[in-house]
Amino acid sequence: MKITVAVTDGPAQPLRLAEATIGEPQPGELLVRLAGTGVCHTDAMAAAGKMPFPLPGVLGHEGAGVVESVSAQGFAPGDTVVLGWPWCGQCRNCYAGQPRYCVNLPSLLFGGKRTIHLTDGTPLHGGFFGQSSFATHAIVDARTAVKVNTSLPLEAIGTLGCGFSAGAGAVLNNAKPAPGSSLVVYGAGAVGLAAVMAARLTPATTIVAVDRNPQRLALAAKLGATQTIDVNGIRNVPRAVREACGGPADIVIECTGQEKVIRQAIETIGMLGVCCLVGTGDPTTELRAHQQSTQWGRSIRGCMGGEGQSHTLVPALLTLAEQGRFPFTELIGYIPPAEALTAAAAGEIIKPVLQMETYI
Ligand SMILES: [Zn+2]
Ligand SMILES: [Zn+2]
Repeated sequence: MKITVAVTDGPAQPLRLAEATIGEPQPGELLVRLAGTGVCHTDAMAAAGKMPFPLPGVLGHEGAGVVESVSAQGFAPGDTVVLGWPWCGQCRNCYAGQPRYCVNLPSLLFGGKRTIHLTDGTPLHGGFFGQSSFATHAIVDARTAVKVNTSLPLEAIGTLGCGFSAGAGAVLNNAKPAPGSSLVVYGAGAVGLAAVMAARLTPATTIVAVDRNPQRLALAAKLGATQTIDVNGIRNVPRAVREACGGPADIVIECTGQEKVIRQAIETIGMLGVCCLVGTGDPTTELRAHQQSTQWGRSIRGCMGGEGQSHTLVPALLTLAEQGRFPFTELIGYIPPAEALTAAAAGEIIKPVLQMETYI
């Protein structure tokens, strides 16, 4: 069938609209008409050639929409779905209930299978994160689709598929603050602000947001941070954060992926503290820390995509949002394709969303 896609040609090039064709869903797959797709940091990194996804291709991995045709059990045309991360369902980690760490994840995220063709027959790399949802339609593995029934706008909720889940899940699935904990979030973008909103839902009593952007820190305070620290002009950031916590922090959620900030995050935690690394850095980023950083029971651990399962995390976050307890839609701004990959870095919009139907 004919669809419209936003093509990524290569580094420093804006998304380009193009007519294309896509096949029929194969057994176990769904065809989804997309209502909206969030733009995640990983899309910009892939477009810049910093992810192992071949270009030209179609990026996009925070889609939500309506099922149009079905070749899988458990779905019907008209179902509304949020597209989560892919998982194979047949490896030891999937069987262990950890699909976010599916051993086949690299090929499922970045394999770049060629199911989309331009109208002149040129194949494009697709299947980015199992979806390539910078398009009017996507064919996805039914395992990745989370059926939802919500009063929130469908075009907004695909954003729960990656970035917001990554931040919220790091707090709710990985760090799990104990009563009275101090929790620090380095980086108040979409992922970090999701972590702040999630932290407010826990018994952590000190929630500190750290960033260099005053507008984002003001948002963090509105969304649940009990204190904020603007790093501009501060020479010893870990010391300032520890002072805000009344001592070394119990938990740090590091969302920037930047070498210098990761080191600050590690130096912020104290005995039995946990530094949870969520942000994705440039592939050349190295992690350097004092060997003693892990003494006194400290942990430095990676956390992918918020861990847990999209099928439990996404519906929970949706319900919390409907209750006014996880107001992620306040962070969304709608953008045209040409601005999709630069909008978040420009800083005006925390979570850009592309509505392809608007541009057909
Ligand atoms: Zn697997
Ligand atoms: Zn993402």
